[in-house]
Amino acid sequence: MEADDLAEIRAHLLRVRDEVLAESERAYAASQSLGKDGVPDIGDMSSNSYNQQVLMSLSETQRSRVRDIDAALERMDKGVYGLCMRCEEEIPARRMEVRPFSRYCVDCKAEVEKFGE
Ligand SMILES: [Zn+2]
Repeated sequence: MEADDLAEIRAHLLRVRDEVLAESERAYAASQSLGKDGVPDIGDMSSNSYNQQVLMSLSETQRSRVRDIDAALERMDKGVYGLCMRCEEEIPARRMEVRPFSRYCVDCKAEVEKFGE
């Protein structure tokens, strides 16, 4: 995979990750402001525990999305992004475009779904 493509995919993944986190942050802030004047009072919370609470409030789908993105970014850092984790063949670019978090080629994906990882 070309370095330019990788940089583009990385930027895209980071953007999606930010969107998921921002979305859940809004949901969390909204849940905190219930019964108040509509302005969430998060000033006295340490940002660390705030972040943890936000993560806790992620839905299972959002959490697995963030996990997939983190895993994809990690594979980029290791230089194995776009390679099948099972047969180590390069995953076709078209498949990576459709599912940028893909860890397996189509054949291995089918096997993994049938027999487990
Ligand atoms: Zn494979």
